[in-house]
Amino acid sequence: MIETTPTLLRGAAWAVLWDEGAKRHVYARDVDILLSGGSIAAIGPAAEAPPPAGAAVIDARRMLVMPGLVNVHTHPTSEPAYRGVREDHGVPEQGMTGLFERLQAFRLDRAGNEAAMRLAYAELMGAGVTSVVDLTAPFEGWMEVMREAGLRVWVGPGYASARWGMTAPQTVTWQWDEARGRAGFQRAQAVMDEAEADPSGLLRGIVFPAQIDTVEEGLLRDSAALAAEKGRPFTTHIAQAVVEVREMIRRHGMTPIQWADAIGILGPRTILGHAIFIDEHPSIGWHTSRDLALMAEHGVAVAHCPSPFARYGEHLRHFGRYRSRGVRMAMGTDVAPHNIIEEMRLAILLARGVARDIAAADTAAVFHAATVGGADSLGRPDLGRLAAGAAADVVCVDLAHPQMVPPRDPLRSLVFHAADRAVRHVFVAGRQVLKDGRPAMLDVSEAAGILAESQARMLRDAPLHDYARRSGEAISPLSLPLA
Ligand SMILES: [Zn+2]
Repeated sequence: MIETTPTLLRGAAWAVLWDEGAKRHVYARDVDILLSGGSIAAIGPAAEAPPPAGAAVIDARRMLVMPGLVNVHTHPTSEPAYRGVREDHGVPEQGMTGLFERLQAFRLDRAGNEAAMRLAYAELMGAGVTSVVDLTAPFEGWMEVMREAGLRVWVGPGYASARWGMTAPQTVTWQWDEARGRAGFQRAQAVMDEAEADPSGLLRGIVFPAQIDTVEEGLLRDSAALAAEKGRPFTTHIAQAVVEVREMIRRHGMTPIQWADAIGILGPRTILGHAIFIDEHPSIGWHTSRDLALMAEHGVAVAHCPSPFARYGEHLRHFGRYRSRGVRMAMGTDVAPHNIIEEMRLAILLARGVARDIAAADTAAVFHAATVGGADSLGRPDLGRLAAGAAADVVCVDLAHPQMVPPRDPLRSLVFHAADRAVRHVFVAGRQVLKDGRPAMLDVSEAAGILAESQARMLRDAPLHDYARRSGEAISPLSLPLA
């Protein structure tokens, strides 16, 4: 438990409150919100009465107060290192994804991991995220940065029984080492135990076998069993690439979603990243149409992260259809920028584009996914909503920001216009982690310089790892030639 002084958010012009009866967010005007003891102690009409003794007061008369956003899928310790590297990169022979080629050629060092993480955590809280699922190959110092940042983190130490490789543009390989997968699983358990013993109460474990196609069946089953036994959420990458789906069909005669169902690893605490290439997706075109029904039946949540796929021309098809078929939707950022508000906007635009239907997604639906959808998938009904007794994970948005005005519908202003630019203050368990748009506790002063040096080493060493011994510049040329 973290000791905090009570904070009164006084006279919020707008607030997004949770209506438990209707199970939805609603707007309220002119409210006082008292944060105390890590929770929301009271919500009521704005009053002139003096604040409780010892309470800090924030004038919220020009603010929107909303629940902290829940990001259920991120790789903060690596993705910022791909800034300037991956945005235009893809391999046409692999359905356009550059995932396999990048992971083989580019290796970030330990200094880069930590610097990337500092920048990413600052991006996360700067865009109003209070809860984050950090999916990472664990390294020394990982949890130290989490403690410093003050965010609520689900610590997801990844492990796998196979390593991807490439031998040609059209050929992805899986090199199996089951002992390595088991050792990673052991280490992950120690890391998750350490997280949950943290006195802050802000760190939790999430069981994370890295990919459905790189973890052997026995280890996947044991991972799901561990999650159930410990009451932890469970996540893996699944249906995230055409290459992966084709390989799983080759191995098992069924899609990865169907195989996950067959081996019994799907359930209401399962989060699937990213469940895009389901049997009915036109890039797969498999003869069944069962995947959506299976996801709905098991109550799994989809970690919807549109950016990395949209960059190479692929989309989940589509947000509104998944929802109407009963699939629970949650939001993540996956890659840099870790700007979940911009992901919400993109989720709306892509759903409408794919469906050619404005009703396929809207502000309320994606906001629900980015709050309650994520919180419920993590088994946390006290997060992602503002109500008395819920966690004091709260975001204050500046209604006077030029891109928020006129604040006729502040969530629309935030999602379609201002995004992180208008996020002013962020509280986690009642403690301020973002103040006036800047991290309050997390030190990012050295991170940019360290990451630039690590990225340079990563690009320099690409020929040591790339299957064709190419330079980093050859794999991902600059967007313009250097004069
Ligand atoms: Zn991912």
